[in-house]
Amino acid sequence: MKKIFFYLSLIITLIFTSCHVNLDFKVGSKENKKSESKNINKEFEYLAESFADLKIIRYKVPNFEDLSIEDKKLIYYLSQASLSGRDIIFDQNYRHNLFVRRSLEAIVAGYTGDRENEDFKNFMEYTKRVWFSGGIHHHYSGKKIEPNFSRGYFMQLIANTTPNIEYPFPFDTRGSKSREKRVLLIKVIFDMDYDLKRVNKDDGADLIFDSANNYYGPNVTQEESEIFYTNLKTDSNEKNPIEYGLNSRLEKDKDGNLFENVYKVDGLYGEAISQMIYWIDKAKNVAQNEDQRKCFELLIKYYKTGDLKIWDEYCVQWVKTKTDIDWINGFVEVYGDAVGRKGAYESIVQIKDMEASKTTEVINEYVQWFEDNSSIMDEHKKENVVGVSYKVVNVGMESGDASPSSPIGVNLPNNSWIRAEKGSKSVSLGNLIAAYSGAATGSNFLQEFCYTDEEIERAKKYGDIADKLGTLLHEVVGHASGKINEGVGTPKETLKNYKSTLEEARADLVALYYIMNPKLVEIGLMESLECGKAEYDSYIRNGLMLQLRRIEPGEVIEQDHMRNRQLVASWAYEQGLEDNVIEKITKDGKTYFVVNDYKKLQDIFGQLLREIQRITSEGDFDSGRKLVENYGIQIDQEIHQEVLQRSAQFNSAPYGGFLNPEYTLVLENGEIIDILINHNDEFKDQMMKYARDYSFLPTVN
Ligand SMILES: [Zn+2]
Repeated sequence: MKKIFFYLSLIITLIFTSCHVNLDFKVGSKENKKSESKNINKEFEYLAESFADLKIIRYKVPNFEDLSIEDKKLIYYLSQASLSGRDIIFDQNYRHNLFVRRSLEAIVAGYTGDRENEDFKNFMEYTKRVWFSGGIHHHYSGKKIEPNFSRGYFMQLIANTTPNIEYPFPFDTRGSKSREKRVLLIKVIFDMDYDLKRVNKDDGADLIFDSANNYYGPNVTQEESEIFYTNLKTDSNEKNPIEYGLNSRLEKDKDGNLFENVYKVDGLYGEAISQMIYWIDKAKNVAQNEDQRKCFELLIKYYKTGDLKIWDEYCVQWVKTKTDIDWINGFVEVYGDAVGRKGAYESIVQIKDMEASKTTEVINEYVQWFEDNSSIMDEHKKENVVGVSYKVVNVGMESGDASPSSPIGVNLPNNSWIRAEKGSKSVSLGNLIAAYSGAATGSNFLQEFCYTDEEIERAKKYGDIADKLGTLLHEVVGHASGKINEGVGTPKETLKNYKSTLEEARADLVALYYIMNPKLVEIGLMESLECGKAEYDSYIRNGLMLQLRRIEPGEVIEQDHMRNRQLVASWAYEQGLEDNVIEKITKDGKTYFVVNDYKKLQDIFGQLLREIQRITSEGDFDSGRKLVENYGIQIDQEIHQEVLQRSAQFNSAPYGGFLNPEYTLVLENGEIIDILINHNDEFKDQMMKYARDYSFLPTVN
């Protein structure tokens, strides 16, 4: 039965994919590719939409068009594998999630009544929140999402929905069992006392029994689980322990005996896992090297057997595999389980950021030059400075626990013996970070907070590059620079609670000091000093105003990075007052901070860098404390008020998540000759497509 479902859905996928090619593009037409690319570059709208406390953000995949066809195929196959497992996270999060989601999708597809009234809008908002959170519990708080429409209205929606073949109701709306199922659906969605928390870590709660997630059978308690796993570990001194319990649901058989229902081809979630294997097997044929091919083989073996020893073998192989295209895939992070044992399905396809790594290489080449020419005192300079290793990748596709809500940096594997003996991979997801800032400070914010058109233009033209270069200088040179005087303790010991703020300020200042240096143009890191000016404008704008929009009225600044930015910007403002380096201008009741003299501002940054390096090198707690307390924490109340008022018109939803790009095959005589990327999906479209094309699991698992 499972096999048939597997092949059937496979065929559907293939038919759909090729249909899509024919619908959207003339097969093999290069013309279309060009217009598509131009469209992307012209006006990339990062912010797709916003609802409730969420915003949906698009991300670019830089230079995808320039990859070889083999690499494009690899990304495509891994993306298909990623999406094939999507249903798993819904089911892991809660046993009724697929039941609810499919009911909502049936209504979205087939409701024949009024779609313009408030009730339907509220229904759509609820549905989008369920899609976003991977189920009916809020993705961050884990609490059940409360619908803003009535049970009566919901019954009406079901009654007025025409059955749709692609989005059928997960229950017979007419049959004898219909009532029973509908009652359950209503209870699951509307009864706020029922399964309220996905993860319950309340003091005194049974972390397993009282959590609504589906990592354990409904009647399994925390104590039973602890005994089960203690007994499983026969040897407590085991040298290389596996991640016990990572890939299974712990449940009871009909006699009440506990057993692990393992995620594997012929086990739990087998229908989705089979699909994933199908695509990983295809990826194997276009692997970038032998190491990666072995990785794929081991992963397939693991998905077939569910054997966690093979998972470890895979992780070891993955750590040593060095390729431009890589991915994270599996049952990985354990935050969704209150006792931290069960792994949530996640997948992140990654492409090495060639530009960033080239830039990093150049920066590393000159890292000693940066140290020697810094504004810090000679006695605080390192004679042999080594740049911090920092890897940037761009995401090509995300699924499961990593989507739509995603991390912006990942460090894996999790198994500690592998980390200790074989190492780990740490990456920063560059295009997502860029998309976050693109969506947060889009052109609206520039219009509102820049004083001149020149500043807006410069930000549009150089903002992205400046931001990226600033980050790389901060990470690679900034944190590596400077040394502690002999006999002085580590900054953590000497600067205590001010250490992080001062350390981040120091790294920022290294970047700021150099980004206006002609040397960077000379060695090809940037086109002109305009790039540096854009960075200065943005730093001052953000540090003195914009970042305050994230702070509640009456509060002070708590977050270290925000403290350091205000410290640097306001200290520089004060130092430059006499020469009018940064000017505070009020026009039509609005405040602006305008940089008048970039060269002098660079000197000021240099002075502060010298001072903070001195504080760090000497472990001068008192001076460090004064700097942070006087410049980094307290907020100018009037400015704060104003910033909040001026930002209120723009979206400021606290949580962001991402829309994936869509990949389309270009076929010629049945051969893939190219793969195109587009970012045209709206959130609803993407979620409905995924539901149609990647629903491999039964409603009850
Ligand atoms: Zn830092």
